[in-house]
Amino acid sequence: MPARNDPDGTGPVSLIGLPRERLEAELAALGVPEGQRRMRARQLFRWIYARGADAFSRMTDLPAELRDRLAEHCSLSRPRIVAEQRSADGTCKWLLRFADGQEVESVFIPEEDRGALCISTQVGCTLSCSFCHTGTMPLVRNLSAGEILAQMLVARDMLGEWPSGRPGRLFTNLVVMGMGEPLLNYDNLATALRIAMDPAGLDLSKRRITVSTSGVVPRIEQCGRELGTGLAISLHAVRDALRDRLVPINRRWNIATLLEACRHYPSRRAITFEYVMLRGVNDSDADARELVRLLRGIPAKVNLIPFNPWPGAPFVCSSNDRMRAFAAIIEAGNIAAPIRLPRGRDILAACGQLKTASQRHRAA
Ligand code: SF4
Repeated sequence: MPARNDPDGTGPVSLIGLPRERLEAELAALGVPEGQRRMRARQLFRWIYARGADAFSRMTDLPAELRDRLAEHCSLSRPRIVAEQRSADGTCKWLLRFADGQEVESVFIPEEDRGALCISTQVGCTLSCSFCHTGTMPLVRNLSAGEILAQMLVARDMLGEWPSGRPGRLFTNLVVMGMGEPLLNYDNLATALRIAMDPAGLDLSKRRITVSTSGVVPRIEQCGRELGTGLAISLHAVRDALRDRLVPINRRWNIATLLEACRHYPSRRAITFEYVMLRGVNDSDADARELVRLLRGIPAKVNLIPFNPWPGAPFVCSSNDRMRAFAAIIEAGNIAAPIRLPRGRDILAACGQLKTASQRHRAA
């Protein structure tokens, strides 16, 4: 039976993604006396997010009768993993299907001393960035707060990492950079991240969370003020004419407006500027010098991303020599400019590729 806060609206209530006050309201609807609701909501919250319970029967400190009522009216179900790919370098990619059949990808990227989970916030995307595979898919819908959080729960399930707060865990960092533009689904993202950051929830520090945007300027300041997470900007070009083409939202908020918002971002962490390296398009020495000039006065780091092509992609990746020369100019301007190691090249690692492959397979 689909959960009630899933789109078709008739099944049990999915408790994943409900803030504590909403949990209290659901408990009230189940007849829990007012004096007990806050405590019961806290217990539920800890079971769901700190211990990873996926069944009410496991919640042994709740009265048996309440567990039965919860099982009858509420749900803790996760999206189904319909495809999984593991790269030789440890990168894992999961294609998740929600109750209404819509699918998104999340990717776990382990590094030596930490591991980042990259999650999606929308099914498809409206923004049509020309270097992005997801941009070729139409926007189907926003993900709910529960669906955003469920990607984190699935990652903890798959990595065998419950309880969540223990030391030595693999999934330590969260990057909101998967399918979709997070700041066009801000309210659901904010609800999900507040639960992820809650010490009684997933207990991820805001210093370990980065929200990446293609430049939805009015939401940037709000995100910094309300959530205080790190910020990444999909910049990819230093001139408006080119950025209009690569990241079309630039026609609404141009480079100058975007960088002005970055200057006022209320977090002391350096802002990461993502720059995908496209041969002969945005990778000249002049582009690198202009990038240094534009970022003056902003605490910044530039991530140079080797373009990860998909079949039919209209670009090719810059050569290694070109990327190194580009990086050297930026570093000479006192801005860190690591060339990101391509991860998961042996799997369909470009965002959206696994979903497309799965759809093609089903069609066949
Ligand atoms: S880069 Fe991000 S915002 Fe642009 S089309 Fe892809 S998913 Fe959408």
